[in-house]
Amino acid sequence: MAQNRVNVAGVDVSTDHYIAGQRIASKKHFLDRSPIDGAALADVSAGGAAEADMAVTAARRAFPAWAALGPEGRAPILRRFAEGILARSADLSAVETVDNGSLLSGNQHRVVPRAALNISYFAEHALTLRGHTIDSPEVVNHIHYDPAGVAVLITPWNGPMMLTTWKIGPALAAGNTIVVKPPEWAPLTCSLLADIAHEAGVPAGVLNVVQGIGEEAGAALVQHSDVDRISFTGSTDTAQIIGAAAAHSITPVSMELGGKSPFIVCADADLKAAAQTVAGQYINAGQVCLAGTRILVEEPVAEKFLGMIRDAVSHMTVGDPRDANTRVGPLIHPDHFARVEGFVERARSEGVEFLWGGARHNQGELYFQPTLIAGARRDQEIFQSEVFGPVLTWNTFRNDHEAIEVANATKYGLAATLFCGNEERAMRIASGVVAGTAWVNCFFVRELAAPFGGARRSGIGREGSKYGIEEYLEIKAVTLAGL
Ligand code: ADP
Repeated sequence: MAQNRVNVAGVDVSTDHYIAGQRIASKKHFLDRSPIDGAALADVSAGGAAEADMAVTAARRAFPAWAALGPEGRAPILRRFAEGILARSADLSAVETVDNGSLLSGNQHRVVPRAALNISYFAEHALTLRGHTIDSPEVVNHIHYDPAGVAVLITPWNGPMMLTTWKIGPALAAGNTIVVKPPEWAPLTCSLLADIAHEAGVPAGVLNVVQGIGEEAGAALVQHSDVDRISFTGSTDTAQIIGAAAAHSITPVSMELGGKSPFIVCADADLKAAAQTVAGQYINAGQVCLAGTRILVEEPVAEKFLGMIRDAVSHMTVGDPRDANTRVGPLIHPDHFARVEGFVERARSEGVEFLWGGARHNQGELYFQPTLIAGARRDQEIFQSEVFGPVLTWNTFRNDHEAIEVANATKYGLAATLFCGNEERAMRIASGVVAGTAWVNCFFVRELAAPFGGARRSGIGREGSKYGIEEYLEIKAVTLAGL
């Protein structure tokens, strides 16, 4: 089925779309470069309205048979898909790292196993979705969980493998057919996922991939009139455009968006663990939606804690993400670098203090120094806006009330991290912060059985867990009388 394939990091990758079980090329292409050194990786097909329509039509045709298989019929295929992901761990990890600059060791040890689990977990979970019956005096109500239909899944470049499989798993397990639009700055592992699905026996048309630019391929998919669900992970600005398109056809949308999450450290916390975890916010160059980017520390320990973070950060290597010692890799793209630099320079011109960092790192064009900014007021851009780079802010608080108030002082509500030595106090603060997830004495735990998502401008709906799969179900009441 191969038409146009390239060798990336020693791995054979198709640069075509994958529609109705076939590799299909567009006349138009876009160039995908590695953020590590700017090397050209692939000329990838750039889809538009025609490719979007082909893919949605293929998904619509495949839907009745895939839905009719039921969870029992789908589970063996999805298990093979998950096994195929694990079997190609080395290839997927190498390609993801070269394509988006994320740490190779993280991809090998955490992301690929999780990508496989994202599929197998929901294959098993769907077996438990039996529906139920509610008796009332006159009638009997059977509650059915029906697949919604055709789902469009749009994913970002910072974690394409993890975030795409997190959507594919529940969407397919629930009986939907799907069209995936990978990010144009890191489109390649999604193409490998299509190969793996094909080999696992996912029927033609059930999983389709349309490559392309967001404003072209993505826009055509979300504007398509025959789509039943849209799931999007990306920026809040793009979410507003997608939400407007979905409003036109009343298509339900789930969205996981940006964040400016607080990282609260109480005086009685395990400061060593907290300092290590603060330093961890720089991993993947801070291009992590759920990162705790606003450090809020209780006053009495602030000075001591700052020294501990400084020490932890001084041991972090900035460099090539393929190197096992590297903790901070490159930013994804020159445009994104300029955006991050813009936030930093505007903050500088407003008179904030740089505790460290604040400039390009000598490692290369797209590398930015881990940066900590003190003295930002709540109304300043650097305190309010998501930078999506290795840039943290530093503030102190005097009591719980102030900690919660400052934590909640942005338009976002994705996550909150809290280090605290007292359970009652931890629960009080965790209850007070507006966030989809509050981590206490831990960070980045995305347990699949627990929901993940954002409050306020950080999103709509949840991923993972029974709440995540519900986004792809139509819940129907069949009410019987006189039988
Ligand atoms: P980021 O800021 O992380 O790059 P974006 O929100 O721009 O995030 O992109 C996330 C995904 O949304 C990408 O796959 C991108 O191609 C897609 N996208 C961007 N613009 C649109 C749009 N107008 N309609 C649909 N998808 C889009």
